Amino acid sequence: MIDYSKLCIHTVTTKAWDIWTAIEKFDAAGIGGITVWRQALDGQDIEKVGHTIRASNIEIVSLCRGGFFPAQHLGGLDAAIADNQQAVREAAELGAPMVVLVCGAIPGQSLQKSRDQIIAGIRAVLPVAESLGVKLAIEPLHPMYADDRSAINTMESANDVCDEIDHPLVGIALDVYHVWWDPNLEREIARCAAADRLFAYHICDWKTPTTDLLNDRGLMGEGCIDLPRMRKLVEKYGFTGFHEVEIFSDHWWSREPDSFLAEIQQSWNQHC
Ligand code: ZN
Repeated sequence: MIDYSKLCIHTVTTKAWDIWTAIEKFDAAGIGGITVWRQALDGQDIEKVGHTIRASNIEIVSLCRGGFFPAQHLGGLDAAIADNQQAVREAAELGAPMVVLVCGAIPGQSLQKSRDQIIAGIRAVLPVAESLGVKLAIEPLHPMYADDRSAINTMESANDVCDEIDHPLVGIALDVYHVWWDPNLEREIARCAAADRLFAYHICDWKTPTTDLLNDRGLMGEGCIDLPRMRKLVEKYGFTGFHEVEIFSDHWWSREPDSFLAEIQQSWNQHC
């Protein structure tokens, strides 16, 4: 019997299933954790979702996602802050300990200005996060998204932002898809862990060729990321949390989700 208690799946990975089906299927498969995407909660009784997940002995790892702070127009940052405060309240209602942040960027706006807005945005969300005890995890995104999805593109940059904000509730979600190529990865993981801020570990694979910037992620073992090395690195610096499978893929989404789930389990077991 293989132990899947440290395996977590993002609801977006199996997005054909509504939240209730996902809970049932993950539970039946012995999956230990779930990261809930906000769209899976649309129109649902969030507290009831949280209760149902806990009753199934599945741990709620995080709520995905907040962020997208940068804005060109007056009021845009305020709207983003309000939305992120709402995400934190939803996480608390669900019973999720953390909100993952895809921090945002605006094409044509300097990355430094976007970073300044991200820092201001996170600072403005922190009082709500503090009052509810919800952590905020900055996820550095691969530089190919620096134009419109995140101005924070390396672990180093995420560590710098965390240093500047300097708050125990603000840390980093490391996603192998975004950082596998980075020559300074070990140094920055060590720095992250030393500050006690390595909050999450997301896995998938990088396919060659990648045919879509967003929706062509690979299943673990399908691409070129050295996943055993990544695992050793995070564990070397003390990470003991979930391995969260987050796969956006038109290819995998077109497959029958039951067999996809079985393949996820098999590939995690073989390649991670
Ligand atoms: Zn991720």
